Amino acid sequence: MVLNLIFLGPPGAGKGTVAQAVMDKYSLIQISTGDLVRAEVASGSALGKEIEAVINKGNLVEDNLIGQMFEKYLKEKVSSPDFNGFILDGFPRTLPQADMLKGILERLNQNLTAVIYIESSKDSVVKRLSSRWTCEKCKKVYNTVSLKPKVDGICDVDGAKLIQRDDDKPETIAKRYDTFLEKTLPLINYYEKENILYKYDGNVSPALSIEAANKIIEKFVK
Ligand code: AMP
Repeated sequence: MVLNLIFLGPPGAGKGTVAQAVMDKYSLIQISTGDLVRAEVASGSALGKEIEAVINKGNLVEDNLIGQMFEKYLKEKVSSPDFNGFILDGFPRTLPQADMLKGILERLNQNLTAVIYIESSKDSVVKRLSSRWTCEKCKKVYNTVSLKPKVDGICDVDGAKLIQRDDDKPETIAKRYDTFLEKTLPLINYYEKENILYKYDGNVSPALSIEAANKIIEKFVK
C-alpha cells in the first residue's frame, strides 16, 4: 500500500530526523521543499539569488513558486515503478499551499494518508537548531548535543563535511518560529477538519520522537 504522509511542526521540531527514520523503514521518499529551495540557491541562478535573500531573513518563499517546484519534483517521483509513498517535510506551509497540494495530488492520482503534527516549544527548537549540522552531500542531519556524528564534523554515511545552515542563526530561528505560528499553524485546523491529523509531543529525544511517529504510522500499515 502507498503511504503518503505530511510532517508538520516548527523549524527544528525534528521533522527531517523523524522523516529520515520513517522513510528508511517503509521505503518512502522524503520531499523537503527546503532542500529544493537550497538546491536552487546553490545553483547560483538569478532565481536562486532572489530566494537566498528571502530565506536568510526567515521569510517564506512565494507560494506559487514553491508549488511549481514541488509538483515538478513529485510528478517525476510518482511515475517511478518503485514508488511506495512520500513524506513531505516543510510543505505545505501556508493555507494557499495546502489548497495547491490538494490540486497537485488530484492531478497525480494520490491521496494523503495522514498529517503528523510534531508539537515543539520555541525554547526547544532554538536549542536544537543552533546545534544542528547537516551533511553537505547526503543532507543527513546531526545534532552536536543529542545526535552526534562518530567523528566531529564528518558524516557517518559518506564521510562528507558537515555544515551549518546560514538560516540557523539565533535571530533567524526566532523569526522562523514566528512565521510558523502565523502562517503554518492554521494548517492544523485545516487537516483536523479533514480527519487526517495526528499529533504528539516533540519536546523529547530524537529516539522517542521517532517511536511516537512510528506508533501513529503503524495504524495505516496492513
Ligand atoms: P526548511 O529547510 O524547511 O526549514 O526551509 C528553509 C527555508 O526555505 C524556509 O525558512 C523558507 O524560507 C523556505 N521554504 C521551504 N519550504 C517552503 C515552503 N513550503 N513555502 C515557502 N517557503 C519555503
